[in-house]
Amino acid sequence: MFFKDKVVWITGASSGIGESLAYAFARQGTRLVLSARRTEELQRVKAACNVADEKVLILPLDVSDTESIPQHAKQVYDRFGRVDILVNNAGLSHWTKVKDLSLEVVHKIFNVNFFGGVALTKAVLPAMLENKQGHIVVISSVLGKMVVQKQPAYNASKHALQGFYDTLRLEVAAEGIKVLLVCPGFVRTNVAKNSLNKDGEAINKDNDKILNGLDPNYVADEVLKAIEKNRDEIVLAGRLERSAILLKRLAPALFARMMRKRKML
Ligand code: NDP
Repeated sequence: MFFKDKVVWITGASSGIGESLAYAFARQGTRLVLSARRTEELQRVKAACNVADEKVLILPLDVSDTESIPQHAKQVYDRFGRVDILVNNAGLSHWTKVKDLSLEVVHKIFNVNFFGGVALTKAVLPAMLENKQGHIVVISSVLGKMVVQKQPAYNASKHALQGFYDTLRLEVAAEGIKVLLVCPGFVRTNVAKNSLNKDGEAINKDNDKILNGLDPNYVADEVLKAIEKNRDEIVLAGRLERSAILLKRLAPALFARMMRKRKML
């Protein structure tokens, strides 16, 4: 079995896509490191994974505290001796036009969505290079490929992921390390509720697109398939988001004209 006993470190494992990924990897017999800020939610996920205690390490952390990442990585290596698959999944959105957007919110979004994952990647890369194997998985978004209004910092952070990890993939391809970018469209999670308003507080409100989005368990299963097939990138989205990406690429002016009139897709 491809995944059996591999060590998989997932950030944002306390909810949504990260939680579903924990279950999907657990079913495949991996060892797991579950990270997010809320310890009690990680404990709930660990219990639901239904695997032997020694196969799961709960490692609470705030990815935006990048200085703490090397110390957290040391705890993982002390416990399991290796990281085979890192899944940079923790993420945060916001709902603010640029004119109302504070720099503080921009920093918050980038610290979680971009810099946190970069720090984690830097922490596991040396050992992966030494072992000449490893998988870095990044949960980006269709908003790394096109944009919608009122999520400027989120759009920008996901575009930044695309640039960074496309570059990393080129650099490590000959060293046996794979880099997978996952670009979901709407997925049924707490992402909308957790989005920040202009004051940097969670808006605590769902929206219909997310409520009717893809099942996070489906997304998780597709991510595992893509890892096994050594895919570079997958887009997991409905027809609407796929069409928008295509339009942005083939007819950017038309895409812009259409998107000026829409608050969302
Ligand atoms: P959720 O809000 O359900 O989950 C977000 C996860 O990130 C939680 O586990 C949260 O845990 C964790 N997290 C947030 N901030 C931090 C932090 N500072 N440090 C550590 N962990 C943190 O949303 P999703 O499951 O939807 O989001 C997962 C990823 O999927 C994100 O990168 C998101 O951008 C991406 N995505 C989601 C889409 C969707 O429609 N749902 C579409 C496209 C991409 P805790 O609060 O315990 O720290």
